[in-house]
Amino acid sequence: MVNLTGKVALVTGGARGIGRAIAVKLAERGADVAINYRSREDAATEVCGLIRDMGQRVLAVKADVRMGEEVQAMVEAVHHELGTVDILVNNAGVVADQYLAFMKDEEWDEVLDVCLTGAFRCLRAVVRDMMKNKWGRVVSISSVAGLMGDVRRVNYSAAKAGLQGMTRAAARELASQGITVNAVAPGIIETDLTAGMTEQRTEALRQLVPLGRVGRPEEVAGMVAFLCSDEASYITGQVFLVDGGMHMH
Ligand code: NAD
Repeated sequence: MVNLTGKVALVTGGARGIGRAIAVKLAERGADVAINYRSREDAATEVCGLIRDMGQRVLAVKADVRMGEEVQAMVEAVHHELGTVDILVNNAGVVADQYLAFMKDEEWDEVLDVCLTGAFRCLRAVVRDMMKNKWGRVVSISSVAGLMGDVRRVNYSAAKAGLQGMTRAAARELASQGITVNAVAPGIIETDLTAGMTEQRTEALRQLVPLGRVGRPEEVAGMVAFLCSDEASYITGQVFLVDGGMHMH
């Protein structure tokens, strides 16, 4: 049984979707949790209430991961209220879908900035404390798009592949410090991000999934909780697909 008692976790974009499921799962396993949100304070407050009712300490902390100073202030607030961050889950992400020929610089920049640079900034902000403690767990939420590529998503696919490279490099650099760094690459998961897709596109994607259905956020969260635990102490630098068998290799 995965046990995270006594650990402090920070989940970016933790107020809804996959991030919310991860925050709840880590709390269920005994961690105190800081929930980062960008604008949806109502959603962050709701999930905080749920976690508090489980008996864990919890903090909602507003920050835009594109802003270095906000990331720094967020980590300091977590340190002050809950203690040093033991577990970082880089979950915040956006899409800005467009055909390559028509993609604007802003659409490229925004997705790279949130999904990849934001994750780097968060990792940089917590890593010194993890090194001091000689223990840390970092899990970044990538995507099958980072392995297979996706139409109208050169920005997103590049960012999610970049996260996998960052994961491997950071894993090598931090292994001697007791810090493991892994990535989880979900397939098609039922959240606000996929709710915007046409039924035709969802059906076309579903055809690619051997398990024949879209995944649930909780199914991603289970893998993340495992990777954050001592059960996963000999696993680092890996990318784990949670995609119903969509991409096998
Ligand atoms: P979602 O839109 O429900 O959640 C995205 C979260 O990121 C939100 O909480 C949002 O507030 C946060 N966020 C966005 N920009 C931010 C910023 N600048 N600063 C701080 N937070 C910010 O979507 P989701 O499906 O739950 O996505 C969670 C993660 O999983 C993302 O990284 C996404 O790319 C990835 N993912 C999702 C799927 C899927 O099918 N849903 C598949 C593969 C990967």
